[in-house]
Amino acid sequence: MARELLARRGTVDIGPPDPARHAFFLDFDGTLVDIAARPSDVVLDAGTTDLLRALKQASDGALAIVSGRPLDDIAALTAAIGPALVGTHGVEIRHEDVRSAVSPKDQAVLDGVGRRLSELALTHGLLLEMKPGAVALHYRGRADLADLCQDAVAAAARDAELRILAGNMVCEAVLTGYDKGRAIKTLMAEAPFRGRIPLMIGDDITDEDGFRAAQSLGGTGVSIGRPESCARLVCPDRHWALDWLREGLARHA
Ligand SMILES: [Mg+2]
Repeated sequence: MARELLARRGTVDIGPPDPARHAFFLDFDGTLVDIAARPSDVVLDAGTTDLLRALKQASDGALAIVSGRPLDDIAALTAAIGPALVGTHGVEIRHEDVRSAVSPKDQAVLDGVGRRLSELALTHGLLLEMKPGAVALHYRGRADLADLCQDAVAAAARDAELRILAGNMVCEAVLTGYDKGRAIKTLMAEAPFRGRIPLMIGDDITDEDGFRAAQSLGGTGVSIGRPESCARLVCPDRHWALDWLREGLARHA
């Protein structure tokens, strides 16, 4: 590892993880792929696909992609690997079976929030994404609109029981009670994750719940480039994190 860690907290082991002992929880956008102008523009490159396949095999399947994207979306992007999946920040889980927490009543509430945001999205050419369990307003390429978008999402969701998540170039209203941390705890209670040491890697504020969950279960959070994170390790960029995983595979082969 030529490049330095940005932060290391406590007595955490920074040695590359051992796929025989760890369970891997990986965010998608900004972690496995670069952030693109539009969510539909991303492609998982061949090298990362090979890495994920090898991790899944070496860990007996203890690999989950933990994303804010809808489950169907992340399933299509990772179809060549077939990992366990967490979609819409924990509202949806696919592992053995598919689970979704969204009731028709929830969806009606979310549809109302979407309608209240549609004019703003249209006016500024922003992407308004209706997901199962969330409404996301993306402002990639228009960082100047961050405050406006965050205020608008908060106002549109004011009367609903929704959680406001301000991520990287996106602001979302998400069903309450679901987050990446809860999803990690759910999967960690099931084979083949159960009994392993959880490792959560992510680049955004929405990954903080995941870091906390992994660390509460004796594992480690790895934040990509956010020194203010609660993660015990903060690495400089996503390539550091992927190289670290590759080194773990090579060292423990
Ligand atoms: Mg991310």
